[in-house]
Amino acid sequence: MMQFHEKEVDRILRACEYYKSAIGNQDPSVAEEYDKVIHKLHSYEQEMDCPDCWDPTSTCTIHA
Ligand SMILES: [Zn+2]
Repeated sequence: MMQFHEKEVDRILRACEYYKSAIGNQDPSVAEEYDKVIHKLHSYEQEMDCPDCWDPTSTCTIHA
């Protein structure tokens, strides 16, 4: 099964937040859609079976 690492989810989140802020002025309805995705990603981040947490040299900041 494919899994995202905590850092990868963080990168996706940053990309979504960046695009959301970029499109916000031109198209608020699109920004709203990205806001939903961002909220979902935050929930995913909390619930995910995080491979980084099993790493002894883990730098996971979400489940620490
Ligand atoms: Zn973790």
